[in-house]
Amino acid sequence: MAPDRTCRVAIVGTGPAGMYALEHLLETRDLDVEVDLFERLPTPWGLVRAGVAPDHPEKKWVVNRLFDYFFRRDTVRFFGNVEIGSDILHGELADWYDGVIYAIGANSDTRMGIEGEELPGCRGAREFVAWYNGHPDYSHLEFDFSTERAVIIGNGNVALDVARILTLPLAELEQTDIADHALVALRASRIREVVLLGRRGHLQGAFNNPELEELLHLENAEVLVEPDDLLGGDEVVPDGADWEARRKAETLRRLADKPADGAEKRIVFRFLSSPVALLGDGRVEQVLVARNHLEWDEQGRSRARPTAEQDVLETGLVLRAIGYRGSALPGLPFDEHQGVVPNESGRVVENGKAVPGSYVTGWIKRGPRGLIGSNKKCARDTVRCLLQDLASGQLTAASLDAHAVLAVLRERKPQCILKSDWLRIDHAERVSGRAQGRPRVKLTTHSELLAAAGT
Ligand code: NAP
Repeated sequence: MAPDRTCRVAIVGTGPAGMYALEHLLETRDLDVEVDLFERLPTPWGLVRAGVAPDHPEKKWVVNRLFDYFFRRDTVRFFGNVEIGSDILHGELADWYDGVIYAIGANSDTRMGIEGEELPGCRGAREFVAWYNGHPDYSHLEFDFSTERAVIIGNGNVALDVARILTLPLAELEQTDIADHALVALRASRIREVVLLGRRGHLQGAFNNPELEELLHLENAEVLVEPDDLLGGDEVVPDGADWEARRKAETLRRLADKPADGAEKRIVFRFLSSPVALLGDGRVEQVLVARNHLEWDEQGRSRARPTAEQDVLETGLVLRAIGYRGSALPGLPFDEHQGVVPNESGRVVENGKAVPGSYVTGWIKRGPRGLIGSNKKCARDTVRCLLQDLASGQLTAASLDAHAVLAVLRERKPQCILKSDWLRIDHAERVSGRAQGRPRVKLTTHSELLAAAGT
């Protein structure tokens, strides 16, 4: 049973994980709740704004359909441009609120651990995605598109997003909300070929079939799949290979069978291939690639093992799309191995014990896996834990009321972005976009965002 007082909850992070947690809290019957949303950036929506590919606007509709609806409620406040862990400490937040839900995602990326990885010309795809999406922490980056071939490591949906962005016709990108600086750089791009290196076989790709099928309809890029790759390596497919893997194999077969039509650019899938080293004099010039074979364990899981067969790909741009990774937040326990905050169903756990009032949801809870919608159930489970703890009297009542929190923030972070400030930024971006027939023109630096907010 909910207590007969107003419950005050802080949610840290306003991407899909945080916003689904907000939805579940506000939709809980008989719960009198006030929610403060804390966000490190001046803008909300996390990876919906800074991660979803600009040519996938339908994946951003969730913002208009759902997130914005709850965000605008009177019982919800937004505090952007405030970093928990430095501007405000975890301990303070835990004290100020009945409960704190961390939905801080995975803001780092996995490393390959190979020679030459630090050479200029090699970057994480996460940085590239953030750059073309106008994330203010990444808008200053520079990518070298003067090379004719780009090599992407990994076979997930991020790898496919990046391959499309590098090959889509400019006219198509110009209608999206891609950052202006990315449009300028891509206009001058000389990239003609994008090679995707998958360390395992075509049945083990981490991408989803709809994303793969999209490649059948690219306007100015053909897709090459070595037919031998579709045969080799997978004679050992267990009978139980799942339906999704077979559908993807069929799509790859259709891509392989599609006649080459002399398109301007091409995307090449190379399976059973791993980078062994990045070579170059002061910057990436070549990737040394090993051919792999698969080894299967008793549970039917496969592992890529290098063979002695190697070849070299000439390239000036290597993007590592091998998965994201969570980062520690000062004051919260962290599992370095998994890159998540240790938890049980969303309750933060330290030394085997639940930390009262602290919760996690989304990628920082379960690792960087799943689509936007996967966060819905994840957030529901976390909110359920918070409500159980509230009902059983395990949460210490918030020490500050709404006015007191605002007073502390005004003093400590005068450039804190409130809901009305964000709505001004949003309006400014949409107005600029309308003039160009685009959904919005993103403001991509902290100073531009703060200026538009009027802070
Ligand atoms: P991911 O789905 O985990 O894929 C990572 C890929 O990198 C896998 O192919 C993996 O191969 C490979 N890999 C890992 N370590 C490697 C290494 N050391 N060397 C070579 N390859 C390596 O990660 P992601 O693509 O970053 O996507 C993250 C999540 O966001 C996923 O759940 C994804 O579905 C989601 N997402 C969705 C969309 C969309 O809906 N369109 C777009 C972007 C992202 P193994 O399988 O062999 O480990």
